[in-house]
Amino acid sequence: MADSVHIAGGAAQDRNHPATGAPEKVVVADPPPEPDYPRYRVEPGEPARLGERDPDETEHYRSKKDVAGELAAARKHIGQLQARLYAEHHRSVLIVLQAMDTGGKDGTIKGVFAGVNPQGCQVWSFKAPSSEERDHDFLWRYHQRVPPAGMIHIFNRSHYEDVLVVRVKSLVPETVWRGRYDAINDFERQLTDSGVTLIKFYLHISRDEQRKRLQSRLDDPEKHWKFSSNDVAERAYWDDYQLAFDEALTRCSTPYAPWYVVPANAKWFRNLVVARTIEDTLAAMDPQYPPAEPDLEKVTIPA
Ligand code: AMP
Ligand code: MG
Repeated sequence: MADSVHIAGGAAQDRNHPATGAPEKVVVADPPPEPDYPRYRVEPGEPARLGERDPDETEHYRSKKDVAGELAAARKHIGQLQARLYAEHHRSVLIVLQAMDTGGKDGTIKGVFAGVNPQGCQVWSFKAPSSEERDHDFLWRYHQRVPPAGMIHIFNRSHYEDVLVVRVKSLVPETVWRGRYDAINDFERQLTDSGVTLIKFYLHISRDEQRKRLQSRLDDPEKHWKFSSNDVAERAYWDDYQLAFDEALTRCSTPYAPWYVVPANAKWFRNLVVARTIEDTLAAMDPQYPPAEPDLEKVTIPA
């Protein structure tokens, strides 16, 4: 090991220098893991076509009861894989959650991460940027919250807001937000190369489902705290947001950081799809416990 270079997410390889032919060691980034479950993935290079994706999809499942066993098993497995990732202390996972208002970002976090040790997992919620954040490049505040080795971080809203609300509400000129798709892809490539696995979810609800959820926040006193008149105002821009999401998902679903469009009208099905996608991605990463100290069998614990 002494003469090889070791970086997160990469392996040292021998090769001959292309010009001089001299033997040398180079660090090659590991290929990103391929999840087993690509059904809801936006294929890189293909249009996302949100309008053709059914938010009511539930496969062969009919009710919350139907998914309970599988969801519990997936959560347990995520917990076990997270424990290994934490112990390995080598790579990390960044989960990006985006949705229309009332789309279920908070509910997904609660429903999927119940089995994960809070010490190895952190949620970062992004609101409208502060004046200090606005004084920096748009990626600055997100870069600071990227997971270090061993950790899973969840972005509840993310750098994608800078091509979503910022675009829809014309917060910067078009020439500025248009340049951000490439900036985002470069940023995510750089993260991937340094050992961060990205999993990006768009929770896909219908316009009518949003109406029902807003109405229930009005009707149920226990949900009044969640109600925001701003959500009603933003609803008027539904079509503009859908267009902005469609373009962001199309331009920024890459082989190294794919987007998943999760059917999200049924909350229980949404949780199942998110859980099994995370489970499959973590399983493909196959995190390992680090080797034990040598000669452990010779150690005795003094009385
Ligand atoms: P909530 O998630 O309901 O607490 O709302 C957060 C608010 O912050 C939403 O209205 C977002 O549109 C807004 N927001 C998040 N990120 C940005 C951003 N980069 N620029 C402007 N507004 C943002
Ligand atoms: Mg809100």
